[in-house]
Amino acid sequence: MITLVLLGPPGAGKGTQAKRLGEHFKIAHISTGDMLRAAVQAETGLGKQVQAIMDGGQLVPDQLIVDVISDRISQADCSNGYVLDGFPRTVPQAEALKKMMAERDGRITSVILFDVSDEDIRARLQGRRGAEARVDDAAEVQEKRLRVYREQTAPLIEYYENVGMLCRVSGTGSVQEVEDRLVETVAKLGTNESLGKI
Ligand code: AMP
Repeated sequence: MITLVLLGPPGAGKGTQAKRLGEHFKIAHISTGDMLRAAVQAETGLGKQVQAIMDGGQLVPDQLIVDVISDRISQADCSNGYVLDGFPRTVPQAEALKKMMAERDGRITSVILFDVSDEDIRARLQGRRGAEARVDDAAEVQEKRLRVYREQTAPLIEYYENVGMLCRVSGTGSVQEVEDRLVETVAKLGTNESLGKI
């Protein structure tokens, strides 16, 4: 079972690579952003609750997203493992994940941080405006999302570093180059007994 967490600022390429890693290792790709956008689109109760928060570039309440993840990782397609893209995003979410994993006798194989410079991030986010036409890709909302990342999500870097689970991978280069780097890193991790303390 391979369980991966991808960390990195918006625009780092997590979504693209999470999908590819899922296909490569035959594990489920779980994107909380995609799940929430689908809920908004379908106008479900959850969708109605989160739409304005997402449009403003803020994070939805921890308990709400923890419940979504708890349901999702219990589904049959997660039995081989999964790659989490966009979760956890706060320390309380990481604590909830730790608890969920313990309850399921599972462990995180690794937390991969996408190392990308601020200039690269801005250039990529700018390119995404128009290309993907997400409401939260408007310039000022992108800035807000970067701020939210630095304030609420970046503390997870230290959180996972302190328990020896963080693995930094350069997110610079072509999509294929980054994928090759990630696959090689994950393949090596799978054989490292010292990992997976959480
Ligand atoms: P993403 O596609 O991962 O950038 O997520 C888009 C938006 O969905 C974020 O800006 C948040 O509003 C919301 N979201 C996604 N994942 C989470 C999470 N783990 N915690 C809180 N909000 C989230």
